[in-house]
Amino acid sequence: MKNIGLIGGMSWESTALYYQIINREVVRRRGGLRSAPMRIASLDFEEVASRQRRGAWDEMTEILSEAARGLVAGGADCVLIGTNTMHLIAPAVRAAVDAPLIHIAEVTADAIAAAGLDRVVLLGTRFTMEEPFYREVLAARGIDCVVPDEVGRAEVHRVIFDELCQGTVSEASRRALQAIIAPLLEQGAQGVILGCTELPLILGQDDCPVPVFDTTRLHALAAVDYALGGTAH
Ligand code: GLU
Repeated sequence: MKNIGLIGGMSWESTALYYQIINREVVRRRGGLRSAPMRIASLDFEEVASRQRRGAWDEMTEILSEAARGLVAGGADCVLIGTNTMHLIAPAVRAAVDAPLIHIAEVTADAIAAAGLDRVVLLGTRFTMEEPFYREVLAARGIDCVVPDEVGRAEVHRVIFDELCQGTVSEASRRALQAIIAPLLEQGAQGVILGCTELPLILGQDDCPVPVFDTTRLHALAAVDYALGGTAH
């Protein structure tokens, strides 16, 4: 089995999901006492989030590239950045290491294309919904992303940082997210990307009438595919 390198802690709530999904999938496929050889570089999320607020992406490129290099030096065969938002600097992190970087939006785009969809709702932090870095990866595969209006985007961003990243899952927020998604589906979106690694804590397939693309799960499963002998994206 290859060794999976994960840059985590963004937030640790979703890193815990990655750890569980990866190991459960290895057990499901290999059985017995198998578990995934992994290296995790778990960052202090406040140090990342405060730089996001300041737009200090260059500093974050340094921090994440250093973390990626450390993972590979310590034996990781691939690198995952365990957050959608920080894929804003994924090209630089990818260039900083010799090992393959498994890109969350590329994996997600493949799953959406395999489902035969080409127009989906993208939910995530305001960076993910508003900056081009994520949408462009999907557009390159013929997938069009629609995002909530400004009020909706602010609410999704608030729920992520003020609630989910701090371990709070509220029924009122679940309903608010469903209400934000509904008009976008009426306008023709065929699926929903949970484009933030904490969103599966609050939304699942049972909460949506269209296919849901859980990026945490898709990303984690792509790592298992790679670790068990497949190729990286
Ligand atoms: N985990 C979230 C994401 O997937 C938000 C945390 C962050 O801003 O990195 O985007």
